[in-house]
Amino acid sequence: MPLKPCPSCSHSVSTQAESCPKCGHPINPKTNTKTTYIEEKSSGLSFWGVVGAVILAIIILSFC
Ligand SMILES: [Zn+2]
Repeated sequence: MPLKPCPSCSHSVSTQAESCPKCGHPINPKTNTKTTYIEEKSSGLSFWGVVGAVILAIIILSFC
């Protein structure tokens, strides 16, 4: 995990961290991490939606 110095206290903080564990200075605004998380989640859901639709189609066709 990459580290970068805290702009407030220069303590090495993970770039993935939302705030500095030493002084609590915000490193990454919550909105940014949340947006990426939602994007990853929605793309994952659409992938499993396609897989689920294909499996459902195979099940329906096998019963015909
Ligand atoms: Zn700090």
